[in-house]
Amino acid sequence: MPSVRITVSVGTRAVPLEEIADPRVAAALRGAGQDVARRLENIACPVHRKVATNVRVHFDQRGGANLQYDSCCAELGKRIGTALG
Ligand SMILES: [Zn+2]
Repeated sequence: MPSVRITVSVGTRAVPLEEIADPRVAAALRGAGQDVARRLENIACPVHRKVATNVRVHFDQRGGANLQYDSCCAELGKRIGTALG
């Protein structure tokens, strides 16, 4: 399982997924976050052959996913941007 840090907007706070009390909501968001992380694992930088690290996904109150990660260089970011649209 790829490691991904997931946070969720609750009111004005960003809380870690582990603090979400509703298990169905937590499971759905974990699944969605891990889907994104799995896709990132398959996208390597054309220059350095590295993948994104320190992957974070934040879900806003409307359920929109905001993805953040560390990349070795801009080429990897470009590739991920193209792949994830
Ligand atoms: Zn690179």
